[in-house]
Amino acid sequence: MRSTSENPPMDLARTALELAAAHDSAATHHLYRELHARPELSGAEHRTAARVRTALRAEGIDCTEGVGGTGIVGVLANGPGRTVLVRADMDALPVTEDSGLPYASTVDGVMHACGHDAHTAMLVGTAQALARGRRHWSGTVLFVAQPAEETGEGASAMRDDGLHQRFPLPDVLLAQHVSAGPIGLVAHVEGPVLAASASIDIVVHGRGGHGSRPDTTTDPIVIGAAIVGRLQSIVAREIAPRETAVVTVGRFHAGSANNIIPATAELGLTVRSTSHERQTQILAAVQRIVRAECEAAGVTTGPDLRIVKSMPATVNDARVARNVAAVHTRMFGGNRIVDPGPAMGSEDFSELARLPDGQTLPYHYWFLPSTPLAVWNAAPGQSPMERFGNVPSAHSPDFAPDPSVLDHGVAAMTGAVLAELASGVSRAASGS
Ligand code: ZN
Ligand code: ZN
Repeated sequence: MRSTSENPPMDLARTALELAAAHDSAATHHLYRELHARPELSGAEHRTAARVRTALRAEGIDCTEGVGGTGIVGVLANGPGRTVLVRADMDALPVTEDSGLPYASTVDGVMHACGHDAHTAMLVGTAQALARGRRHWSGTVLFVAQPAEETGEGASAMRDDGLHQRFPLPDVLLAQHVSAGPIGLVAHVEGPVLAASASIDIVVHGRGGHGSRPDTTTDPIVIGAAIVGRLQSIVAREIAPRETAVVTVGRFHAGSANNIIPATAELGLTVRSTSHERQTQILAAVQRIVRAECEAAGVTTGPDLRIVKSMPATVNDARVARNVAAVHTRMFGGNRIVDPGPAMGSEDFSELARLPDGQTLPYHYWFLPSTPLAVWNAAPGQSPMERFGNVPSAHSPDFAPDPSVLDHGVAAMTGAVLAELASGVSRAASGS
């Protein structure tokens, strides 16, 4: 991360640490354990949302519920200045917990395996820090508790429910996510940080028959195999080597017996890349290859090709990334700030930044590594990358962030908000 002329003054970092230290840390930890023990699936975050609403209102924050489903929007208006939106996601995953934690999930088959319980608790903690320390800053902060991130539906649902029409329009949006990696670091990436992703279902329609008479059939397994092989050439031969992209066939089902040629074959793909343009290019190539392989085999029906889920790329605004990384450097020390480069996971956070006219508001999304140091140090591997692959990661049944990430995250978000509130002219004031 480059240094910048926008380096916030030292007292801003100190103020952030003081405000964060004054929040009710015990209550944040209690809320975290409570949410972890009672996880709710995407779109069903009723109890979680109610807890957020109660906690925000207790700080005198004006709170609206039911935005885009179970979404909560808290508005802390505190005089003239910029408007900063802080977002946490609330939903859990259909995973059976195997963490051994004393506060493990009490709901069968549902677990906070992606740390959204920590994000929610940190949102409330940050709200408390900023509300109690309001004489130290001026402007407006929106606290957004978002439903259904895991299904990629929650952010666009809140936006389509009038997030930017019913509440003050933000100058900038901020979010943070826990991750594997040694606790205490903050990982900032400028530009592309998370991939665009699409999930595609394909059905190849052949012609079934007896396994001893292939000449009377059109074998969809052979076509499917050719498709799987040919798809590998997209990243290898159509994408520039400097770009990052993935095409994975994660599902290939066909047939029921050794001596029967089936009538259809089903394939399931995930496609990931770091820009909208690349994603569009890859999806077009997938369609071209699937259609051409079917045609080459003489298939007359289909194929069926359906995008069942897609998320946009997350591309951090360079100015905001540098400004937030700079205040974190002053708060935590330069050796705590790392740049891991883009990851191929996906997020729907950037949907919150999209305006109806197609414009995108600037945003920054960073990671809080949260692997307990004992677990990290005991993980096999010489290099950090090797260890990174050998500690529990998000979405796994044994994902168990170190709870000290809560205080760290409240401080990180409080610092980011103060740095952005102090960073220039507001949209409203500049009339842009
Ligand atoms: Zn997740
Ligand atoms: Zn997540």
